[in-house]
Amino acid sequence: MNLPLVHRAYEHGPRTAIVTADGQFTYQDLLRLSGQVATRLLGGADDLWEQRVAFLVPAGFEYVATQWGIWRAGGIAVPLCVSHPRPELEYVIIDSGASIVITHPSFEALLRPIAEAHQLRFILTSDPLPSDIGQLAEVDATRRALILYTSGTTGKPKGVVTTHGNIQAQVTSLIAAWEWTSGDRILHVLPLHHIHGIVNVLTCALWAGAECHMLSKFEAEAVWKRICEENLTLFMAVPTIYTKLIAAWEKTASDRQMALSKGCAGMRLMVSGSAALPVQVLERWRNISGHFLLERYGMTEIGMALSNPLHGQRRAGCVGVPLPQVEVRLVDESGVPVPAGTPGEIQVKGPGVFLEYWHKPEATAKAFQDGWFCTGDLAVVEQDGYRILGRISVDIIKTGGYKVSALEIEEVLRAHPDIQECAVVGVGDPEWGERVCAALVLKSGCSLALEPFRSWAKEYLAVYKVPTRILSVEELPRNAMGKVTKPAVAQLFGARQI
Ligand code: ATP
Ligand code: MG
Repeated sequence: MNLPLVHRAYEHGPRTAIVTADGQFTYQDLLRLSGQVATRLLGGADDLWEQRVAFLVPAGFEYVATQWGIWRAGGIAVPLCVSHPRPELEYVIIDSGASIVITHPSFEALLRPIAEAHQLRFILTSDPLPSDIGQLAEVDATRRALILYTSGTTGKPKGVVTTHGNIQAQVTSLIAAWEWTSGDRILHVLPLHHIHGIVNVLTCALWAGAECHMLSKFEAEAVWKRICEENLTLFMAVPTIYTKLIAAWEKTASDRQMALSKGCAGMRLMVSGSAALPVQVLERWRNISGHFLLERYGMTEIGMALSNPLHGQRRAGCVGVPLPQVEVRLVDESGVPVPAGTPGEIQVKGPGVFLEYWHKPEATAKAFQDGWFCTGDLAVVEQDGYRILGRISVDIIKTGGYKVSALEIEEVLRAHPDIQECAVVGVGDPEWGERVCAALVLKSGCSLALEPFRSWAKEYLAVYKVPTRILSVEELPRNAMGKVTKPAVAQLFGARQI
């Protein structure tokens, strides 16, 4: 057994590791249950070497013990998403080639038929556990640890394989940058099939010997309650979660609002990431909580790469500078580094960068250039940090010879008095190459005609950036991570799937 995460847990022993609605669990509890899970998985074998174990367990102590149990048995953990429908779960189970499926009884009806159809070993978390902990597997840093499926924002989710060494690098980089200690208490409200929830929150907390307070699902009132009552020090979320917390705060009676805001006072850090943080949300959150959100940038394939500073000045609309152990550069279309101030694709190098796309050697090879991982995101260095312009495939619109950033246009449109939310896409056009189109969620009772909207937008945007088509929608299409799925937005305008 050579897993530093587990070794550290022995040191943290009696400290509280996980807090849930069911109670509190120490590092010792975690070692005991994960050892039993591993023993059951091994069933007398020495090692689950290279075996993929898919698991669907709600956020809580059993989730963590299952994940650790798979690792301690030497297997590769494939976490499934609790909100995915059957076809998506089946896609991940089959694509990863999982031979074992573990689930909580509440998901038995969903998963047992899949396991039976493909003759997979099926385990319920409620099945009796072996009492004695056997000899567990020897696991070193080069071993594959996780297959995480990307959010599926631009297409079919891809299985991203990270080793134990990759995870260690991702975690230690964030622990150093954000100064995690065993005295931290973090509220975990994120999905547990995605890097943000698994690495940045859960694994960082457990590596540091901190307390991880887990909610089984996000619910704004419950989050506010925990923030007020649990003496937390850290909180991390995606922009849509901050938007929902703001909406809930605004609906609260004014005397209670003060108490909610005060609840944030003990926090030492609140982080946003996984999608661009609208400046308006940042400012509103600052008014409500007193915290200037720390925005960072990362992806499933690389962990976190860029971050605003823990100490020192954070800038709205900017994702900061490279994190420890991470090298970042911007390159043009021929792969040549660009000078400061010129937009370029973000490329990343470092020990946290993933091993491969599962079963996709060609996609893996294509994703690297001279040892650098090509993120597919465009950014520009401004003054003291990087600003993300968006994904080259869906957010960079080529119109009439210009390249425009959908994220920049969205930021401007959100300031319109009638617009609640928006998503800008490029839609193929014979004359312009692409046309700038905007799907708008209007504030209740508002309506917006194209020409007055365009006249307003021309005050703030160059004319070629002003949307030529708008569409009012009830809500924007989003995936399980709360990210707007741009191909689905483009389809609203009659474009074919990108
Ligand atoms: P898929 O790869 O399946 O299309 P995805 O790229 O959304 O989905 P993730 O790995 O969850 O999957 O997300 C990483 C992407 O999220 C980055 O490549 C980037 O485009 C976006 N992103 C992350 N953080 C930020 C941020 N702070 N600002 C803007 N974009 C961000
Ligand atoms: Mg991606």
